[in-house]
Amino acid sequence: MTLSRFALSALLLCPHAHAQTILGFSGASAARQTAVETKFKSIPSPDEEQRQHKIFTAEPHTAGSKRNNELADYIAGEWRKQGLEDVVLRRYDVYGTNPKSASLEMIAPTHYKALLREAPIAADSDSKNPAISSAWLGMSISGEVTAPIVYAHSGNSEDYDLLRKNGISVKGKIVLVRYSNPYSYRGFKALTAQREGAAAILIYSDPAEDGYKQGKVVPEGPWGPEYHIQRGAITYDFMVPGDPQTPGWASVPGAKRIPIEEAVSAPKIMALPLSWHDAKPLLENMDGPVAPETWQGGLPIEYHLGGERVRVHLKIEMDNGLQPYYVVEGRIRGAELPDEWIVLGNHRDAWVFGGVDPSSGTASMMEVTRALGQLTKQGMRPRRTIVVCSWDGEEIGLTGSTEWGEQFADELRAKAVAYINVDEATSGPNFEGQAVASLAPMLVETSRTLQDPSGKSLYDAWKESSARLRREAHIEAEVTDANLSDTRIGSGSDHTVFLNFVGMPVLGLGFVGDYGVYHSAYDDFFWMNHFGDPGYRYHTLTSQLWGVTALRLANADLLPFDFAAYASNVRQFVEELSKANEKNMWEQPPSAVQPGEARQPQLDLKPVLDAINTFEAAGHDLNEAVSRKLAAGQLDPKLAANINHGMMQVERNWLNPDGIPGRPWFKHILYGARFTYAHLELPGLTEAVEKQDWPTARQQAEILQHALEKNTKLLNELNSTLTP
Ligand SMILES: [Zn+2]
Repeated sequence: MTLSRFALSALLLCPHAHAQTILGFSGASAARQTAVETKFKSIPSPDEEQRQHKIFTAEPHTAGSKRNNELADYIAGEWRKQGLEDVVLRRYDVYGTNPKSASLEMIAPTHYKALLREAPIAADSDSKNPAISSAWLGMSISGEVTAPIVYAHSGNSEDYDLLRKNGISVKGKIVLVRYSNPYSYRGFKALTAQREGAAAILIYSDPAEDGYKQGKVVPEGPWGPEYHIQRGAITYDFMVPGDPQTPGWASVPGAKRIPIEEAVSAPKIMALPLSWHDAKPLLENMDGPVAPETWQGGLPIEYHLGGERVRVHLKIEMDNGLQPYYVVEGRIRGAELPDEWIVLGNHRDAWVFGGVDPSSGTASMMEVTRALGQLTKQGMRPRRTIVVCSWDGEEIGLTGSTEWGEQFADELRAKAVAYINVDEATSGPNFEGQAVASLAPMLVETSRTLQDPSGKSLYDAWKESSARLRREAHIEAEVTDANLSDTRIGSGSDHTVFLNFVGMPVLGLGFVGDYGVYHSAYDDFFWMNHFGDPGYRYHTLTSQLWGVTALRLANADLLPFDFAAYASNVRQFVEELSKANEKNMWEQPPSAVQPGEARQPQLDLKPVLDAINTFEAAGHDLNEAVSRKLAAGQLDPKLAANINHGMMQVERNWLNPDGIPGRPWFKHILYGARFTYAHLELPGLTEAVEKQDWPTARQQAEILQHALEKNTKLLNELNSTLTP
């Protein structure tokens, strides 16, 4: 429902002119909810956020490590003390990927042995911790090779085309690529190098992207210093996330496992990350043509394409034994509707200390659970159940959340209202709110009730920073309530299984800023206290927002989904697809059409657009009917349950059990991700259109049309029960 319409009707009927109105709440419930939220917001404190953050960032805690498992026990213990119920550890036995050793040596034209380590910084005591790992990438294969090295810019497909034009093959060679410019997920770079026949890939952090060319570096500023190494995994989780040996089912102990050779998400190439300190000697000794202007980086050298002169010896040894990962699960059981769940999650595992990623989110989660526990003890138990999870192995391939989601998929499809993810809570002051389009209006509404540390409402601060960031990115669209939330959801965090496999609406919350130490040892307590969030005010705000959003979903009389907003988003997706592929969408170019003859489309999207229009109309009708019902006050519990279950079903109906072509695990027909992790709307349809595979495109369009019709029918049934 639109806020203005609902606010107006509620104001007209409500005797107290200033009474709070909230999407999904009757007047009386909104007043109760406001009291609950006021209490909730008063609990998270900057001091507690910092105290928790210090605990989580005290030691390196990679997936499955002893320290990460100790933290799982710590979380479970804290949650029990805080008052959470049914706290359990879920164990998954997954394909392990831990570094045993790695070495890289230039053997010609001169000798250089790469450090593969990050130098300690005097001001930052954590940077001296001997437990900090050396350079490694999760899911690299073990091996040893001596070969020439080629500079392949970002390692995207078009970069190899340019190398080919220059007569340079990478077959059997080692490619050196940068992390960004343009950004693509490192796993995509690895797959591209593997397909090109390279023997190994080295991925380094160029100062142009996250170092001194951006601004001051650690310890003077937030950007990456000379020695920082961006670790990470190269799992092909854009094909299927989670344990590569259990695609589509949970890795519970004893589960069936496929051989690793058959696992599509397991890379078959050696890979290692480098600091620019280690990359520079390689780059400055390379021969071959001078790299194009756009390939030149931030180092004070001329970048060449290489290919002959520089030879390196690379050796990587990994331990791939089966390894347990632990998901910590707790809940506050719903007082009235215990079988309707709001699920909250954050991953626990970090590449090193995880100052931003993920321990800022973990600290925020601990304050959410403390506040929820206190509310419950004071008699303000939520109506629905709130489930909270601490994931393991997100960094390896979204593993913990994927296995958990696969294990409980049926139960989640029956009970789950939504999933709210917080990965990195804070790397700066700019709010980024992500939501499936049906929940975007409620997220915007919730932001109005919170205060940003700047003194403005979070809503105003969000609008201002969005406008600024859009100007900087030369995006013309003006910021409005309708486009404030980011409704283009790709992959890259733990929401993936819930959206793309289970069919749950998802939200993602976090604050971002200048951050050049991602996945390095310098992403730590020192960094957070000096640059990311000194004073922990944005951590606190994250906890408040996360909790209030969860409580609105948990306590609403009628769930605050806006399907008219969903329809208008889907229309935008279809229109953008048509526009981007206009040239190819027709059988003949306009010049080939005889006068009086109609052009024949390869793909006619009119039936889809018609189906969107009727879905939108049904969504509008439902918004109005819900609004009227809530304004009238009295709600029959059986009727409310019927409406809410119907609304929960809408997201499930966007799933195609066969998945998108070539990637059966990804079942959502509106949301997907490209191999680069970039968001990909209407994934099955879009990929078919881009390939000009018209039979598949027509089939995917039909699937979309049928899903829209199914959901229109569902909404109309709900409307008829609300408006007899
Ligand atoms: Zn993360």
